[in-house]
Amino acid sequence: MLQLYAPLSFLGVIYREIRQSTTDLERMFTILEEHQEIKDPPQAPALQVGRGEVRFENVRFGYGADRVILDGLDFTVPAGETVAIVGPSGAGKSTLARLLFRFYAPQSGRILIDGQDIAQVTQASVRRAIGIVPQDTVLFNDTIGYNIAYGKPGASAAEVEAVARAAHIHDFIVSTPQGYETQVGERGLKLSGGEKQRVAIARALLKNPPILIFDEATSQLDSHNEKAIQAEIRAASRDRTAIVIAHRLSTVVDAHQILVVESGRVVERGTHAQLLQARGLYARMWNLQQDRAAHPEASAAMA
Ligand code: ATP
Repeated sequence: MLQLYAPLSFLGVIYREIRQSTTDLERMFTILEEHQEIKDPPQAPALQVGRGEVRFENVRFGYGADRVILDGLDFTVPAGETVAIVGPSGAGKSTLARLLFRFYAPQSGRILIDGQDIAQVTQASVRRAIGIVPQDTVLFNDTIGYNIAYGKPGASAAEVEAVARAAHIHDFIVSTPQGYETQVGERGLKLSGGEKQRVAIARALLKNPPILIFDEATSQLDSHNEKAIQAEIRAASRDRTAIVIAHRLSTVVDAHQILVVESGRVVERGTHAQLLQARGLYARMWNLQQDRAAHPEASAAMA
């Protein structure tokens, strides 16, 4: 009975969260993670945040015992640089972001931030160091100002406006009927995918973390919006360590390093130019996406 009750009560918690519309990626995963039993080691210290170097050392991980998802993942993101993670669907790109945020722990290997194993410090301190711009931002049924300020409880109106400007959403906000007081979400103003992503970027910037993770939305954007989002990612990543999980390779051409992940391993790495020259998986993916961009009717018919 107890076994049955635990998952039911867990579902109850999630249901209430959804009903109250207080769900978003971080909150949702916090709830899930409480049930994943990832616990801080006793007397774990807080992460001593420096400039935000991220290192994966031979990380192996599977959601269950029967299937390996990350199979010895090894890479370093130097502090202040932007690394893009690309690769086929299901390769394990989002999974590595979840491990960095400590939603899950590797089965073997280590993940280090500024030389400290994230399994040995408090989860809360790891999460303070990282801002996530998720694929699909869920907005609260509240004002747009509240939705941004959520990134930093107690933020002042001036702080909210500053990050909204940085994320290129301020002009849009002031054009809405009540500006920052405009209600958004299910019962308010509906925002487009690009506008929601900008809210998510503003929210993440308000946290002012040394490390940012962008999990790019898979949905198609028109080329104007795509360029705008690219510029916003670039601006938000300035002077921070950034990991961009990308589906559109055009988003990552200027990353310091691109990692091509396939079946949970890094199979190619380099800059855009180096990877094109290598004529491997990246070059094939690039050519395919260029063809699709040139002939959208054909790719729509294929989809
Ligand atoms: P995409 O480009 O489609 O977003 P991805 O490279 O980000 O894919 P992941 O989301 O990391 O891929 O998923 C890697 C594999 O792990 C997939 O096969 C997926 O089905 C599986 N997976 C993801 N989340 C879970 C989970 N919570 N439980 C079990 N398996 C999962």
